[in-house]
Amino acid sequence: MKSCPEKVTLIGAGLTGPLLAILLRQRGFAVELYERRPDMRRVRTSAGRSINLALSTRGIHALQQAGLWERMRSIIVPMKGRMMHSIAGELTFQPYGKDETEVINSISRGELNVALMNAAEEQSVAIHFNQRCMGYDLKTGAVRFRDENTSRVVNRDTGVVIGCDGSASAIRTEMLKLNRFNFSQQYLDYGYKELTIPAGANGKHLLETNALHIWPRGNHMLIALPNIDGTFACILFLPFEGAASFASVSTRSNVVRFFEDRFPDALRLMPELADNYFTNPTGAMVTIKCSPWHLEGGSLLLGDAAHAIVPFFGQGLNCGLEDCTCLVELLDRHGADWPRVFAEFEKERKVNTDAIADMAIENFTEMRDRVADARFLFRKKVELALEAKYPQLFVPKYAMVTFHRIPYSVALTRGAVQDRMLAQLCEAIDRVEDLDWDLAEKLIRCDLTSLELRP
Ligand SMILES: Cc1cc2nc3c(=O)[nH]c(=O)nc-3n(C[C@H](O)[C@H](O)[C@H](O)COP(=O)(O)OP(=O)(O)OC[C@H]3O[C@@H](n4cnc5c(N)ncnc54)[C@H](O)[C@@H]3O)c2cc1C
Repeated sequence: MKSCPEKVTLIGAGLTGPLLAILLRQRGFAVELYERRPDMRRVRTSAGRSINLALSTRGIHALQQAGLWERMRSIIVPMKGRMMHSIAGELTFQPYGKDETEVINSISRGELNVALMNAAEEQSVAIHFNQRCMGYDLKTGAVRFRDENTSRVVNRDTGVVIGCDGSASAIRTEMLKLNRFNFSQQYLDYGYKELTIPAGANGKHLLETNALHIWPRGNHMLIALPNIDGTFACILFLPFEGAASFASVSTRSNVVRFFEDRFPDALRLMPELADNYFTNPTGAMVTIKCSPWHLEGGSLLLGDAAHAIVPFFGQGLNCGLEDCTCLVELLDRHGADWPRVFAEFEKERKVNTDAIADMAIENFTEMRDRVADARFLFRKKVELALEAKYPQLFVPKYAMVTFHRIPYSVALTRGAVQDRMLAQLCEAIDRVEDLDWDLAEKLIRCDLTSLELRP
């Protein structure tokens, strides 16, 4: 047990760090937050400002627990479904959920980060900026920080340390030096680039506002998420190498030609495409799995530091925020018995974060390829019909992950069973009216148990 169990030091004031700080403060812990970047509210940084994230039920639940959801409502844009754009410019809309209550919410990473940091400071959490964690003494628990302005390095006695420092976590790097620490990182052969569709006259959105727009093109795709100021934050996903790739699309004229070819309707809305393309860096996407996440009661990894995933299920943030609620629920149950809380946290979460990591990779193929396929869209309709008739039994995998707090591992397992059922039910039909309801009833009653659906 740590000598000062009531003091908690969080490394990283990204998205999970400030939320966890608030939840811990609300439980009486003394919390210090250290962040390597300057304060984005005072210094203009490019740190993920323009990327938008899809916030859904798990993340919203965590924000509600901290009393923050109502204030986020002014900075979100609800997205009711996917709007697919064909090369010819035809639009197909596919709702995400069974009705208009099941939406995902577009939120700017920068705005969310600022709102969370403001809320943390209101709860008397001190955030120390420009403090890069350089290492962690696994024996004494002291953390080494370098001041990014002065380069001065100091050791701080930190109490319990929680690494919320993202996919390149310094705390995890320290744990890697331990005997029998398991670690894997798997990069996709794809990168991503942020682009923008500016607002139209009077700040109006130039595409349907309440949708996530997708231009699925087989091995590459473009997506666009609405912002509250009328702009769209776009992300282009391309292989790093090959015919249509970041390596081949490498000059201004290439970029414009590529968009003329693949995304002509988007190109018309992107006057600064080539500037954006060459100004913004190309990001990489990685899945990280590791264990153990904790070192007795001294330190813990949380969020991307413990389990970075690729972005195609829109769950990295939601999962990280769910980590925070899970951790404080365990603290509420066991008090500051950190060794026990950390051990139970990893036991409860890892099976689930491994599951969402796998589903996120699976969903990449779905988004870039299958959403444009008529059979896929038909199956989605059948799923919704089955859910309407059997709401406690048949919940589509996307809904289990996005609109419920059903454990990810359950969503993965049931999703596989349901996929087999759907294949059988849809095999010989192409109209929902022709569904064999007797067979559906038999399969569902035989293979699925009733779900506990928590709001
Ligand atoms: C392109 C893209 C799209 C995404 N879309 C979605 C989405 O739609 N929905 C969703 O739920 N998730 C999405 N995600 C995932 C989401 O962004 C992450 O899961 C989330 O940001 C993780 O939060 P975190 O607090 O663990 O890490 P981060 O938000 O990365 O925060 C880590 C913080 O730690 C700081 N830090 C790092 N190292 C140090 C150090 N040594 N010392 C001090 N501070 C340090 C960093 O500066 C940063 O502020 C997306 C990710 C990407 C890349």
